Amino acid sequence: MSYSTPDLGFAYDALEPHIDARTMEIHHDKHHVGYTTKLNAAINGSPLQGKDPAAILANLDTAPEDIRGAVRNNGGGHVNHGLFWEILTPGGSAAPVGSVASGLNSAFGGFDDFKKTFSQAAATRFGSGWAWLVKSGSELKVYSTANQDSPLNRGDTPILGLDVWEHAYYLNYQNRRPDYIEAFFNIINWDVVEEKFKNA
Ligand code: MN
Repeated sequence: MSYSTPDLGFAYDALEPHIDARTMEIHHDKHHVGYTTKLNAAINGSPLQGKDPAAILANLDTAPEDIRGAVRNNGGGHVNHGLFWEILTPGGSAAPVGSVASGLNSAFGGFDDFKKTFSQAAATRFGSGWAWLVKSGSELKVYSTANQDSPLNRGDTPILGLDVWEHAYYLNYQNRRPDYIEAFFNIINWDVVEEKFKNA
C-alpha cells in the first residue's frame, strides 16, 4: 500500500487572483507529488508501511532511525499540503464560524487579533516553513514551524496552516510574502477549519 497525493478539489485557477493557476499547478502536481513519492520511497518495506501518516508524524521518535529524517520531511510535506488544499476555497467565508469563532475570541481577543498574530508568525518564519493555528490540549495556539515540520510532531493538531515556502507564492508575489499572507485570508474555508476544530 502506497500513499497517494489527494486531488486539489478545485481547478488550478479557482483561487485567482489570490493564488495564480501556475503556482497551484506546480505546487500540487510537482511539489506535493514529490513529497508523496519520496515518502513512499522511504517507507516501502519498513515497519511504517501502511500506517496513517498523521500517526507516524505524531510518533516520529519510534520511526526507524535510518528513515526518520526522510519521513519527517516528506511525511510532513505530504500531510501538510493535504491539509492546505482542504482549508483553501474559492471565495471563502470572510470570517470564522461556530465554535472556532468563539475559540479564537477567547484565545486571541477576537478575529482581528488572531489575524495579526497568525500573519506575524507567517511573516517572521525565516526561510521555508509554515504558520499554524493548532489545537494544543484544549487551547488554540498560533506558531510557525521550519521546513515541513508538522504540529503533529509535538502532539498538537493543526486546524489551519499556511505554506510560506517561496514555492507557494514566488511566481506572483516574489519577495512580497506579507501580500501573499494578506491574500490568504480571502480564500480560507472556515467551515473546514470549524470541522477540524470540532474533531481535534
Ligand atoms: Mn508547499
